[in-house]
Amino acid sequence: MTVMMRSKPTPSADPQPLLLDTLFRPMGADGVYARTQLYEDVVERLTLMITRERDARAEVFRFPPVMSRRDLEKGGYLKSFPNLLACACALHGSEADIRAAANRATTGGDWTSALEATDLVLSPAACYPVYPIAAARGIVPRDGYLFDVACDCFRREPSRDLDRLQSFRMREYVRIGTPAQITEFREAWLTRAQDLAAQLALPCRVEQASDPFFGRTGQMMAIAQLQQSLKFELLVPLHSESRPTACMSFNYHRDHFGETWELADAEGAVSHTGCVAFGMDRLAIALFWTHGLDPKSWPASARQALGF
Ligand code: 5GP
Ligand code: ZN
Repeated sequence: MTVMMRSKPTPSADPQPLLLDTLFRPMGADGVYARTQLYEDVVERLTLMITRERDARAEVFRFPPVMSRRDLEKGGYLKSFPNLLACACALHGSEADIRAAANRATTGGDWTSALEATDLVLSPAACYPVYPIAAARGIVPRDGYLFDVACDCFRREPSRDLDRLQSFRMREYVRIGTPAQITEFREAWLTRAQDLAAQLALPCRVEQASDPFFGRTGQMMAIAQLQQSLKFELLVPLHSESRPTACMSFNYHRDHFGETWELADAEGAVSHTGCVAFGMDRLAIALFWTHGLDPKSWPASARQALGF
């Protein structure tokens, strides 16, 4: 008789199958999961932790998972990330047209060929809808604006990795104002974010970064973004030190959204904008990946920060 020895997983073994089994339930697509109570409890505690950091002046908006297609087009998203965007589609036409298309679903035909784009896209980031809201108020006040926004985001990049979801939660603090106000906001958050990661006992480093702009012209945009130090990320080594995961990002858009939405102060100076984005699902998965599946056994500072 052969005795199968079950070897203990080595620290380098991929913890993802166990994390997937324990924290999620499949929903038929990579990167789209039902979340268990164990997981969701940690997301809620992280949410409270970030809310405690909120500036008293911040205005709160919670956005639906969809936004105006026109608004996203206007912001230039299709120039930068056309490959990641998903547009909401629906059946149009007469009752007979719609019935005929829907019937194809039951006869093995392709009902989706009859779909037409609607005026909605799935929001790819939490801050896009806030700029038109601010612009609708007219002149940007001397102190600028500070917003606390969040939404379920979608990016079309299916993956089996649990730190790369198609549908994930993003929380952001957004600043609109003068270049000096944005710089001060971002500098302060670069420090505070590392303090939050330290409380959570997550090993991390902050590095300059670029967005995954699409195609060959995208490479030029990424180089320009790096040259101007417009993006930083808080990286947590989950897979490995050399392939860390961005759990927060710190973005300076310069006058991009100010120009797009005609945001300007009383003297007519175009406003600058910046945001700090917290990947809620990435932070939660980073905690389980780093500290294990039982929050009660996590390092004391993390338990304290999260109220366990
Ligand atoms: P960014 O706009 O900088 O690409 O994304 C902001 C934050 O959202 C990232 O720092 C990250 O924490 C989170 N995020 C971006 N892409 C994904 C993803 O594919 N999956 C998950 N879970 N979070 C993501
Ligand atoms: Zn943003």
